[in-house]
Amino acid sequence: MGCYRVQLVAIISFMLLLSNTHGWGDDGHAIVCKIAQARLSTAAAKAVKKLLPKSANNDLASKCSWADSLRVVFPWSSALHFANTPDSVCNYKDTRDCVDKKTGIKGRCVVAAITNYTNQLLEYGSDTKSKYNLTQSLLFLSHFLGDVHQPLHCGFFSDKGGNEINVRWYRRKQNLHHVWDASIIETEVERFYDDIEDFVDAIQRNITKVWADEVEEWESCSNDDISCPTIYATESAKDACKWAYKDATEGSVLEDEYFLSRYPIVNLRLAQGGVRLAATLNRIFDTQFAVSM
Ligand SMILES: [Zn+2]
Repeated sequence: MGCYRVQLVAIISFMLLLSNTHGWGDDGHAIVCKIAQARLSTAAAKAVKKLLPKSANNDLASKCSWADSLRVVFPWSSALHFANTPDSVCNYKDTRDCVDKKTGIKGRCVVAAITNYTNQLLEYGSDTKSKYNLTQSLLFLSHFLGDVHQPLHCGFFSDKGGNEINVRWYRRKQNLHHVWDASIIETEVERFYDDIEDFVDAIQRNITKVWADEVEEWESCSNDDISCPTIYATESAKDACKWAYKDATEGSVLEDEYFLSRYPIVNLRLAQGGVRLAATLNRIFDTQFAVSM
């Protein structure tokens, strides 16, 4: 058992060193983490810097897709990236939808994962050493806060959140899930921006201008909760029906009509993901800061 643990730690440490890759699939996550890191309180920024592996160079975005790279090595973690609803059901319910459908184990979905890793991080700074690897907790939480804002991560179970709906994205064969994970962002950056940095700047400007009146509401959780992923999953399930699945069925050709009406939704969800990741980390580490004072 001890030996197995040492091997696990070695594999994870090795992957932390390697996982600096940036494919298109990683951009959505990197954007969420960039927006979040720029909004951290002093205490949270300090804690994040301390928890990030050295290879990150204090750049949370560079490790934001680390959790995806673990899916093959640790199949148990796959169910933590999403929460699927029954067909044509446009809302999310913990008791019904937060379950690993392969194993039937309840409480295994993106919503429960966010709560779990939030709770782990609350042990940061306590006198007794945490039994968790809090670097991993931070990287999981940062990734899953992004995932829960992608509408098709709360899509229907039977088509695996759009993974089994084959469409064309302009001329290219694609599945609908990937369109929302990456293609819309890719096309948007190609058409409207110089690069990803330029795109992030534009979203940040919108957060302080266009959405300025809404940001406080995005950040707040009811009942003084530190994170409120059920709210985010409910919004995503609604957006999946209203925007992602609408006019996109097997064989659909998705072009300008779809792209131009959907990219504002993607932008909003990226912004909300970043703002809420920062708010969650600030609540976690400001609480810790207060305790340690
Ligand atoms: Zn993921």
